[in-house]
Amino acid sequence: MDRCLYCSKSPSEVGKLNLGHGELAEIYECASCGIRFTNHHESAHESLHSEPSTYDNHDIRALKIKRYLDGQDYLAAKSELELRPANKFVLQEIGKLQKGARILEIGCSRGEFVGYLRSQGYNAIGSDISITAIQGAKKHFGDYFVTELSDLIGKFDVIFSVGTIGCVSDPKGLIEELAAYLDNTGVIVLNAPNISPLRSFSRLWPSTLPPDLTRVFSREFFETLGGFTAIEVLEDNMSKRHAAFYKFETIFENKVGRKFKSTSTKHRGIFVRFARKIFIACTLLFVPKIKSEYGLFVKLSKK
Ligand SMILES: [Zn+2]
Repeated sequence: MDRCLYCSKSPSEVGKLNLGHGELAEIYECASCGIRFTNHHESAHESLHSEPSTYDNHDIRALKIKRYLDGQDYLAAKSELELRPANKFVLQEIGKLQKGARILEIGCSRGEFVGYLRSQGYNAIGSDISITAIQGAKKHFGDYFVTELSDLIGKFDVIFSVGTIGCVSDPKGLIEELAAYLDNTGVIVLNAPNISPLRSFSRLWPSTLPPDLTRVFSREFFETLGGFTAIEVLEDNMSKRHAAFYKFETIFENKVGRKFKSTSTKHRGIFVRFARKIFIACTLLFVPKIKSEYGLFVKLSKK
């Protein structure tokens, strides 16, 4: 790659990521823009939604929330959503609003977050680039979803996004576009993959691989965005257990991974599970604080 996504500098290639099946992804980093990235494929997300993939659990997750909402167990629905720290961060912001506030979710997948917000009296709309995802969301939660931002009418009090900003071709461009849909007193809240734990562990990429995730950010990337008067960036830490697990996965990937790729999956599975258990048990007490992989929490406002 000759040029960075956002400046005229040549990004440095930081390594080649093994995607399995002999496929490699070249990973680049531009230190001055604070972004690590790889090639982006525009059609990847429709394929992830419409073909068997790591997205298979999205519909299961949505149906689980739908069952809670149908049974009017709103507390269970909220607890389920809050299992993801980024959702908790978003819900805290939305909790400051009056009922009836206009809310837009970017990258809503099968729509369970919008479904929950509507059950709580908010005027929430979801958008996703994937037609398959939007069809699923409409089926489960009603006609409150769009694939094109240009179909939206009026401005929003909160625009939020969980697990999406690292999966788009032009994150900065998308945020600028969203600012046009934001009310003057509104906020954009989102989470982003954090480059910090990668640097601490000399790891190339977070657990979510390309072509799903193609951009990883530093907090400086968001702190220097233009067009906003107030920018807040928080960095979430992993739980101790997750940190121990992460340390194991990183060591395994960096030191052992390639060698074991050639052995049978069954034996590798047993070995890895056993080694992971022992490792986590041994390191749980001593593991240092590690920033969460997807724990850059960003709040942008124009007021
Ligand atoms: Zn750059």
